[in-house]
Amino acid sequence: MRIVLTGGAGFLGSHLADRLLAEGHEVVIVDNYITGSPANISHLSGNRNVQVLDLDCSKSLTVDGPVDFVAHFASPASPDDFKRIPFDVLRVGSHGTENCLELCVAKGAKFIFASTSEVYGDPLISPQPESYWGNVNPNGPRSVYDEAKRFGEATTMAYHRFRGVDSRIIRFFNTYGPRMRLDDGRVVPNFISQALRGVPLTIYGDGTNTRSFGFYADAIDCVYRLMMSDVHDPVNIGSQEERTMLEFAQAVLRVTGSSSEIVYMEAAEDDPKQRRPDTTRARELLGWEPTTSLDEGLAKTVEYFRGIV
Ligand code: UDP
Repeated sequence: MRIVLTGGAGFLGSHLADRLLAEGHEVVIVDNYITGSPANISHLSGNRNVQVLDLDCSKSLTVDGPVDFVAHFASPASPDDFKRIPFDVLRVGSHGTENCLELCVAKGAKFIFASTSEVYGDPLISPQPESYWGNVNPNGPRSVYDEAKRFGEATTMAYHRFRGVDSRIIRFFNTYGPRMRLDDGRVVPNFISQALRGVPLTIYGDGTNTRSFGFYADAIDCVYRLMMSDVHDPVNIGSQEERTMLEFAQAVLRVTGSSSEIVYMEAAEDDPKQRRPDTTRARELLGWEPTTSLDEGLAKTVEYFRGIV
């Protein structure tokens, strides 16, 4: 297949590009590098099956030639980005998604939308199944991302129901691994870079918030299975290894061998208190199981960050 991949120079997008190429597909990477990096795809230069378009899919998206699939993975994803570039976050989830879906209509292509556990907001139930409608602040500091992704899901389903687009929605829970931006402000790069530099690990709040960290390779495997399936309802992807932020800080200290101290800072506004996916649907409909433990995934991620800190 010839696959248009927005955000193909980002963390998850570039790993998906690698997987699609390994499966024998052609990939048209679309990125404006607002949070993606040329370094994430530099190993692909000269590959006959790769084309790179430096453009902002929120503005327009035209691609010459046949297109079989569009994967919309472009979006800033760090809570720091929601404050730094809020309008870009809003646009890529709304206009960007619509532009991708119009391309699907024009080319007769299939579609996959990269959504997020943020559609559940600060969830009142745990773990979160896809049927949960969420507890989202529609105008708080995270709303530019949460509501753009919710709008993106609504747009995807409208094109599916009323314009006949063969679509899929994947909801990523916290996913980590090599190629994350060192300075993106999320907890994984923050804690690892702090540990490697020997400076204090900064916990926001009292350290009892939980997250479930999934390794990118497991997540990308689920994406590929979903792309090849006929499942149109949203599918959660993530890990069952739920940790408090204090436990996670201790895991990072253990894996890095760092003696950094842990400090507590002011809690972030509207920070979800808990997050763990119910992945029954991915298991039952896609035969997906994660294979990487948190310690194994962290070790590989630390190795990557050692090279760039
Ligand atoms: N967090 C933290 N210290 C940091 C960065 C984040 O304690 O230096 C916390 C944050 O408050 C949240 C969790 O780690 O409870 C995950 O935050 P992240 O920004 O990685 O992503 P989120 O899951 O909130 O989208």
